[in-house]
Parts: sequence; structure tokens; C-alpha cells
Amino acid sequence: MSIAKNLNDIKSQLPEQVTLVAVSKTKPVSDLMEAYDAGQRIFGENKIQEMAEKHEQMPKDIEWHMIGHVQRNKVKYMAEFVNLIHGVDSFKLLNEINKQAKKHDRIINCLLQIRIAEEDTKFGMTSNDAKELLTSEEFSSLTNVCITGVMGMATFTDDTNQIENEFKRLKNTFEDLEPIQTNNCTLQIISMGMSGDFKLAINYGSTMVRVGSSIFGARNYSN
Ligand SMILES: *Cc1c(COP(=O)(O)O)cnc(C)c1O
Repeated sequence: MSIAKNLNDIKSQLPEQVTLVAVSKTKPVSDLMEAYDAGQRIFGENKIQEMAEKHEQMPKDIEWHMIGHVQRNKVKYMAEFVNLIHGVDSFKLLNEINKQAKKHDRIINCLLQIRIAEEDTKFGMTSNDAKELLTSEEFSSLTNVCITGVMGMATFTDDTNQIENEFKRLKNTFEDLEPIQTNNCTLQIISMGMSGDFKLAINYGSTMVRVGSSIFGARNYSN
């Protein structure tokens, strides 16, 4: 198995307007470098500490995306370099990101994580929560963040019909929120689709897919 070959396989299946985030969580820097040498520049991690360590060790033209759940007290460890935070699901978190971004004189792009799965174990906001946040006065005062889209995770199931419905839900939410254009909100990105379902996600309007195991192989969480 070759990471470069896997990467090119995936890329050949993506329409031009769809961005590929190579999800490299748990994988060693040597694996990431194989993808880097094959041209990949966007990597996604779900632990801030791990992402910061890899950022230290790797070339500086990489875009780092935080795709996991973010604890507020850890935002400071990525504020200097992170390019996109996918999993923003509260004003409190956004406020902290804004505060840390300001310290580094940066504007950090964020996606609002929308709860689309029928199972209620996943993080995320409702469509109404998102609309309230984006139109609130407190939000308009956050000058160091920019909401550039929405993110969602479908239920882990073989039921294609259910996954389709969940992807449709995210697309609908995006279209519902899209007219909200402010200084710190320009919605362009729909982040949905992983190794098992990215083609389906693209059919339903995904503009950014997060693919891990199909590029780097299965993850081993026991070591
Ligand atoms: C791990 C992860 C992925 C990638 O999953 P694969 O099935 O390995 O492609 C995508 N999105 C999020 C949020 C993840 O945590």
C-alpha cells in the first residue's frame, strides 16, 4: 500500500471545486511527509496537542485544519497557526478563538458544526442555533474570527438513505444561512464526507471532504 497512490486515487475522484483535507490523526510524521511529497498541503487533526507537534516538525506551507471537538482551554495552543477550525459549536468557544486570534493579530476561519445525525451523540448546533449566533450582536463584535461555512458528520451506518438525508440536512442549513453576509461571516464551505461516504457527500453539495483511512490506512488506537 502506498500513501501517494491512495492520495492520487482519491484526488482523481474529486471534482475540481472540492477541497481534500487529508485526515492524519494518530499517524506518524513520516506518513504525513509521504502525502506532502505527493503534493498534499492540507492536513486535518482532531487533537490540538498532536497537531501542534506535527506543525512544529513539518514544512510551513501546510494548512492545518482542526476537525475534532475543541476544548476552550486548548485554543491557545493552535491560535498561532491553525487555518480552519471545523468544529465550532458555541458562542463561548468562538469568543475564546477570537480572543486568542487577537493575541496573534490573526483572523481565524471557522466552520459551524451542525448536528445532522439522527443519533444524538454527536456534537453540533441546530440550524436555528446557528442562525441566532450569526445574527447576534455579540457575534458582530468578534473581529478576529470569520465563519466561512458549515460542517457536519453523518451517522455511522450502512443505511445510505439515512446518510443522504443527513447530508441534505446540512446542505439545506447552508442554503438557509448563506444570505447572512457580514464582516465576519461569508459562507462558502460545506465540510462533509469521509472515507466511506465522500462520494455521496459530493452528490449532496459537499465542497470539502475529510478523508483519513482511505489515504493513510486504518488507524490503530491501541498504541
Ligand atoms: C477521523 C475523522 C475523519 C476521517 O475519517 P475516515 O473514515 O478515516 O476517512 C473525518 N472527519 C472527522 C471529524 C474525523 O474525526
